Amino acid sequence: MPPESKRVPPNLRREVAQRANQLCEYCRCPAEFSADSFTIDHIQPRQLGGVTTLENLAWACFGCNGRKHIKTTCVDPSTGESVALFNPRQQNWHEHFS
Ligand SMILES: [Zn+2]
Repeated sequence: MPPESKRVPPNLRREVAQRANQLCEYCRCPAEFSADSFTIDHIQPRQLGGVTTLENLAWACFGCNGRKHIKTTCVDPSTGESVALFNPRQQNWHEHFS
C-alpha cells in the first residue's frame, strides 16, 4: 500500500472549509478577516496515526494550527492535569469554551 499523500486533495479541502462556514473551528475567526491563509488541521495528527478523512480534518487559522501542531492534550493551568484539546468533531464549541 503506498504511503498516504501529505497533501489534502482540493475537493476535500473545499468540503472541510464549507462545513466550517469558513470559520476557524478552534477560535471561530472568519477566514475572510485573516491575513494568513487558513489550513487543514488533522485533529488526530498524522504523526500519531491520524488519517486524511473528512472526519479527522478541521478548518483552522494559521495561528491555531501552529499552536496545536501535533498536540492532542495540554495541561489545564487551573488543575495541573493533562486534558484533551477541543475536538470539533466530537464536542460542541459553545459548551466546551463556556
Ligand atoms: Zn483559529
